[in-house]
Amino acid sequence: MNKIRNFCIIAHIDHGKSTLADRLLELTGTVQQREMTNQLLDSMDLERERGITIKLCPVRMYWKDHILNLIDTPGHVDFSYEVSRSLAACEGAILVVDATQGIEAQTLANVYLALEQNLEIIPVLNKIDLPAAEPEMRKKELENILGFKSEDIICISAKTGENVETVLDRVIEKIPPPKVREGTETKALIFDSIYDNYRGVVSYVRVFQGSIKKNDTAYFLSTKKKIDITEVGFFRPKYAPSDEIKAGEVGYVVTGLKKVGDAQVGDTVWKPGADLLDISKATVLPGYKKVTPFVFASIYTIEADDFHMLRDSLEKLALNDSSLSFEPERSSALGLGFRCGFLGLLHMDIVQERLEREYNLHLIFTAPSVNYKVILTNAKKEEIDVSNPADLPKPELIFEIKEPWVKVELMTPSTYIGPLIELCSKRRGIYKNMNVIDEKRVILDFEMPLSAIIIDFYDAIKSITSGYVSMSYHFLDYRTQDLVKMDILVANDIVGPLSQIIHRSEAQNAGGVVVKKLKEIIPKKQFAIAIQAAIGAKIIARETISAFRKDVTGYLYGGDVSRKKKLLEKQKKGKKRMKAMGSVDIPQEAFLAVLKKE
Ligand code: GDP
Ligand code: MG
Repeated sequence: MNKIRNFCIIAHIDHGKSTLADRLLELTGTVQQREMTNQLLDSMDLERERGITIKLCPVRMYWKDHILNLIDTPGHVDFSYEVSRSLAACEGAILVVDATQGIEAQTLANVYLALEQNLEIIPVLNKIDLPAAEPEMRKKELENILGFKSEDIICISAKTGENVETVLDRVIEKIPPPKVREGTETKALIFDSIYDNYRGVVSYVRVFQGSIKKNDTAYFLSTKKKIDITEVGFFRPKYAPSDEIKAGEVGYVVTGLKKVGDAQVGDTVWKPGADLLDISKATVLPGYKKVTPFVFASIYTIEADDFHMLRDSLEKLALNDSSLSFEPERSSALGLGFRCGFLGLLHMDIVQERLEREYNLHLIFTAPSVNYKVILTNAKKEEIDVSNPADLPKPELIFEIKEPWVKVELMTPSTYIGPLIELCSKRRGIYKNMNVIDEKRVILDFEMPLSAIIIDFYDAIKSITSGYVSMSYHFLDYRTQDLVKMDILVANDIVGPLSQIIHRSEAQNAGGVVVKKLKEIIPKKQFAIAIQAAIGAKIIARETISAFRKDVTGYLYGGDVSRKKKLLEKQKKGKKRMKAMGSVDIPQEAFLAVLKKE
C-alpha cells in the first residue's frame, strides 16, 4: 500500500496537461513509443481538435517500484462535479501552469477544488522550451497568489521531456500513499462510468475500504441497485483484468448494466462485510450528488423524416454521457423534436457538434435557456421547475420566479477592468471584488444571472480584451427577480421556441431588437408577415415584412377580367393555406439571433 500513489493533473486549457500525461506514459514504459499517438488520453476526435479533455481515462504506471495511478480530469468548468469526483479519488495533484501564460481563471478554480479535497499539490511550470517563457516571473505569481514556495516549483517542458522525470520522483516523494479505512464492508467511489459495447457499463472506481473481486455481488448505494460483477481490473491503459482490486487502488468494475445513468459518478459501490450486513445502514462516500442540467435547448431536425434518426443518435450519445437528458417535444412551428438538458454551454456545443458530425444530422437548435424555479399562487405556494419558456404558467398563476445566479471570475490584464465591469453591469451583473495578481493582471469577481452568460458572453469578453481574458464560473443560488415571458408572434402565431423569459426592465429593448433581427432573417413571402414581441396580450414591439408580390396576372394580355379575378382568387387562397400551415420559413439563425445581445 505504501507503494501506491493516486494523482491527477490539473491545468487551465492548453497549458499542457495532455502532453505531460503522454510523457509520463512514455517514461514509465506504459505505452510503447510506436503505439503512442499524441495526447493518447484524449480519445475522442472532437476533444483532440478542441484540445480539451471531456472524458476521464485513468492509467496505471510503474515507476521506481511504485504504482502510480494517474486519473485524467476534464479541464472545463462545465464538468466541475466530475472534476471534483476524480480529485476525491486521489491523494495529490500535479498543477500545470504554462510558463508563457501564467495562472488563468481555471487554474484557480481547479486549485480550489483540489484544496477542498485536501490534496497535496505539486506545482509545475510547463513550456520552458519556448522563448516567451518567463519562469522566474511565473514562480513569483505562484508564490503570491497560491502560496507555493519558489524552490518547490518544477520547471519542465512536456514537449521535449526536459525535467519530466523530476515530476515523477516528486509524486512519489510528496504525495502520501492512500490511507486505508478500517472495516470489513467494501466501499469504492465511482469517478466515471462508460458504456462499452462488449462489456456493458464499466465503472471506474477508487476503492477506499475492503476489496472487490470478480463474481462479487455488490450494490450502488444511492439507488440500492444490485450488481453482479463480472470482471475487475486495472488500466494499462487498456483494460487489464485482475482477480481483485483492493483498498487504496484505482481500477474498473464491469457491472453488466445497460445504462450509464445507473452507475452515477460520485456514487458508492458497496459490498457487505462481517461488521455491516444491512445495506440500509450503509453510508455513501462523501460528496455524492446527482448532477442536474443547467442549460436547456430544443433540438429539431430540418427534415421531418430524420426525427427517428435524431432519437437513435441521442440515445447512443446518452449511453456514454449520463449528464445528457432529453425528452420528446412538439412544436407547432418546428414539428417533433427533443428538449435537452446540458451541464453547460460547452457541453451543449459538444453534443450539437457530435450529432451533426458523427450522425450526419441537419439540426435546428433553439436558443438555450436556464432552469427557473416558479412559485405558484396556489394555497401550497407550490414550486415548479421551468426550463422551457413555453411551459411558463399564465402570469396570474405565478407568485414569483427565481433564476439561477453564478459567481463569475474573470482574469484579465488591468487595462480592461473598466470595459469588463461595464459589460457585466449591462447584463445585470454585480461587481463584487478585485484581486491584484501583479502590476499587469487582476481577477474580477461578479455575481451574475446565469442567463446573462449563456449566450455570447464569452465572445463578448474575449473581443473586449483582444482574447486576453480567462473565465470560470460556478453556481451560487436561485434569486427572485422581476421576470416575464416574452413571446414572439410571426404572422400572429406564437412561435413557442422563440419565447424567452426575460427581466422586465430589459423586455422593451430586447423585444425591439428581436423583431428587427427577425425582419432581416425571415424570407419574404407573397403575403405581408407581421412580427411582434408581446408580454401576455400586450404587444411591445412590431415590424412587418412586406409581401413580395408575384405579378401573376402580368402575362394575361387583354381584358379577360373574370380570368384575372379567378387567378387572384387562387393566389389569395394560396396565401391563406400557407398561413394556416404556418409555412413562414424560420431559419435556424433566427433561434439564436433572438438572444444575441450585442
Ligand atoms: P491541455 O489542454 O492542458 O491538455 O494541453 P495540451 O497538452 O493539449 O497542450 C496544448 C498545446 O501546447 C499543444 O499544442 C501542445 O503541443 C503544446 N505544448 C504542451 N506542452 C508544451 C511544451 O512543453 N512546450 C511547447 N513548446 N509546447 C507545449
Ligand atoms: Mg488535454
